This record gives sequence, structure tokens and C-alpha cells, in this order.
Amino acid sequence: MDFDLTKEEALFRDSVREFGERYIKPHWVDLDEGKYSLLDLIPRLAEQGLIGLTLSSKYGGSEGSFLMAAIAAEELAYADPSLAVPVYFLLEIAWPFIVQRYAKDSVKEEVLPRLTKGEAWIGIASTEPQGGSDVGNERTEAKLVNGKWLLTGEKNMATGISIALRLPYGGGFVTITRTGPMEARHRAITTMLFMVKRNGVVNTGFETGDYEEWGRRGIPTGYLRLNGAPVDPDFILGEVNNGFKIAMEGFDVARTLIGAAALGTARWMLEQGREWIRSRVVFGKSISSYQSISFKYAELSTRLEAARLMVYRAAWLADKFYRGESVSILDIANAGAMAKMLAVELAIDVGLEVMKWFGGVSYFKETPVTRAFLGALSYYVGAEGAQNILRLIVARNLIGREVE
Ligand SMILES: Cc1cc2nc3c(=O)[nH]c(=O)nc-3n(C[C@H](O)[C@H](O)[C@H](O)COP(=O)(O)OP(=O)(O)OC[C@H]3O[C@@H](n4cnc5c(N)ncnc54)[C@H](O)[C@@H]3O)c2cc1C
Repeated sequence: MDFDLTKEEALFRDSVREFGERYIKPHWVDLDEGKYSLLDLIPRLAEQGLIGLTLSSKYGGSEGSFLMAAIAAEELAYADPSLAVPVYFLLEIAWPFIVQRYAKDSVKEEVLPRLTKGEAWIGIASTEPQGGSDVGNERTEAKLVNGKWLLTGEKNMATGISIALRLPYGGGFVTITRTGPMEARHRAITTMLFMVKRNGVVNTGFETGDYEEWGRRGIPTGYLRLNGAPVDPDFILGEVNNGFKIAMEGFDVARTLIGAAALGTARWMLEQGREWIRSRVVFGKSISSYQSISFKYAELSTRLEAARLMVYRAAWLADKFYRGESVSILDIANAGAMAKMLAVELAIDVGLEVMKWFGGVSYFKETPVTRAFLGALSYYVGAEGAQNILRLIVARNLIGREVE
């Protein structure tokens, strides 16, 4: 057991930290206010080798580990605690990695080198209006007609659609579709890469629009209404009717990185809080001298350390799994769910506490902690598994399939 990062990992952490200080920190509030565009940052992230960090060098990736990806997600979230930049980063780690594992060579060779250059996007389109948690019950139908899969249905929350439409190549979504009867549930699920724009040409058969969000407003989330949208059969991931496991694998790795992003925003909020409680004098003393505040600071700092250990362990397990060492996909699912559960709930608790320390001024936009809290909230209410679903995963792993 060794709790130290290797020299290479520590240098990598420092380089991402410096990158964040220089290129992200000065813009994060403007990004959240819509006065600065993520598209202006993407070329820099690509230059830094961060987009598709874990992809093969064959596709322009950096061949980094998931532990390095977790380290980077935390640092990017520290620089942009509203979470827009880390969300972009982590989605472009998890879902392109799944494409690299399960797509045909021709698709990988076409899309992934454009993605690592910052010219293409790959996201996830899973959630549907009847309930995103029950993936086995999804209804978006894919039918093979004249050599093309035609998609009909609605994905009501997918991040990055309008980004894909604005990037030069375009991009697509690992899309969960039904290719058999509803009764077959997850045994009739197929994952395919539905391209909203390919090689500069926008696809047909869909409508989209972005929502107005409360937080993390630098990265848009919108809906996809699919009305016969075509997918080339080469863009199926894995086998027809065998897509459920592929989607779950993507969620498993994404969750660990979400946990890492939650660490970064929690760390930033705690630091803001510490500076404030030291300097804020009420009843003649700095409020940090009151134990109801300083003990809470100590407790949250301890939870931050604990959550980081869980996140790192989940990333380390993923690295072992992908190196073919003796780790099962269930180990990753369990560790990823635990990591997201702990770290996201910590970020929410830190945000609420630090806002209380700031008192009334936290309610006004001049105090950026609330902006960070709203970013963390996106991962508390949803995205890659609502918090109860993480409990369901852990309970099923530890107790058994009877857990509902
Ligand atoms: C900012 C943002 C971005 C998003 N981006 C994407 C994206 O890119 N792609 C995508 O596919 N989706 C995306 N989502 C959607 C997200 O993944 C879903 O919100 C999430 O999976 C939960 O689905 P739901 O909101 O439909 O909630 P529901 O499934 O309707 O669940 C509602 C509540 O019931 C609880 N619940 C459900 N089942 C159980 C159970 N068995 N036991 C106990 N409690 C249960 C859940 O925990 C939740 O609290 C995004 C969401 C947000 C907020």
C-alpha cells in the first residue's frame, strides 16, 4: 500500500493546476454567465492533451490512466467550481473511451482523432421523460429500414448537443435504444453512436433545444426529439441487443470522475469558507474561533480527505480492470457508485455550510460560492445516476439482487 502519487502523477497534477490557474480561473464566472464560451477553451484543453486523456495515441489520445483523469477532473473543478469545464472533460474521457472499446475500427478512426483535436464531441443520450433511472425500461426505438437504423423517441436530457452542432466535425451520443420488445427490458437494449453532425453535415430526423439551467451554465444540456433519425449500422457499439452492459460500463467510469470533480469544487468552496471565517469578525471575534464553525470545518475537511481516497481507489480499480488484472466490472461499479455518492454529497454539504458562514451575502451573485454549489447540485439531483440509484447499486452488490 502506497498513498503517494508517482512522480509522473504529481507532475501531471501540478501541470493541470497551473493550466487551470492560467486559462480557466480567470473565465469561470463569465463562462457561467454566458459571457465566455467553452468553445474558446476547447482548443487549449486539446493542446494540453486533456481531451480523451485515456485514449490510445493511435487516435491522438495521451494514454493516461483513470487515476490521472481523476486528478485532472479535481484540478479542473478547482479552477472552475461551477463544474462546466470538468463536466466537458470527464464526459470526453468516459464516453469516447467506450467508443474506443466497442465501435468498429472505421468509426474510431473517423471520429476519435477529431475528438482529441477538439473538433468533435461524444456524449451520452440515455435519459427519457418517463424516468432516467430505469435504463432497462427505455423506449427510444431503433428499427432497421433499408440498411439504416431509424430512431424514434425522446431523450429529454443530454449534455453537449449544441456543442456538437457547433464543433467543426460535429459529434454524436452513445444512445440507448430499444431493438426488441419492451418485455425483454435490458436484453433488448442496443447502444449506438447517433451522430447529430458528421464531418460538418447536420443529421436529419431530430429536433433539439437547450434548457435554461440554474447552475453549471457554461455547458448546455438539452433534449433530443428523434423522429426517424438515421444511424449507419457501422455505428452500433458492440452487438445488437447487448448494449445495456456497455452503457453501464460507461456510467461506472464516468461516476468515478464525477466524484473527482465534486472533490475539486468542495475543496474550492472550503478554501473560500476558511478565508471568510478567519476574517469575518462578529461579536468581537473571528467567527472561526466559534467551535460550531471550526469543528464543522474540521469535519468537512476530514470528509474531503476520505472522499478523495475513495475516488482514487475507484480510479485505481478501473486502471487495474482495463489492464486485465484481477478486478471485475462489479468492483468498478461498486467503487464508482460509492465514490460519486460520498463526494457529491460532501460537495453539497460543504456548499450549504459555507453559504451559511458567508451569511446573507451568499445570496447575492457577488459571492461565487453559491455558483459552485449550484454546479454540484447538478450531480446531486441527477446525471450518471441519481443518489438513490448509487445506493441501489451498492446495496445490490453487497446484499443481493433481491434489493429493489
Ligand atoms: C445538468 C444535467 C445534465 C444531464 N445530462 C445528461 C446527459 O448528458 N445524458 C443523459 O442521458 N442524462 C443526463 N441527465 C439526466 C440524468 O442522468 C437523470 O436526471 C438521472 O439519471 C435521473 O433520472 P430522472 O431525472 O429521470 O429521475 P427519475 O428516474 O425519475 O428518478 C426520480 C427520483 O426517484 C429516485 N428513484 C428512482 N428509482 C428509485 C428506486 N428504485 N429506489 C429509490 N429511489 C429511486 C431517484 O433517485 C430520483 O431521486 C442530466 C441531468 C442533469 C441535471
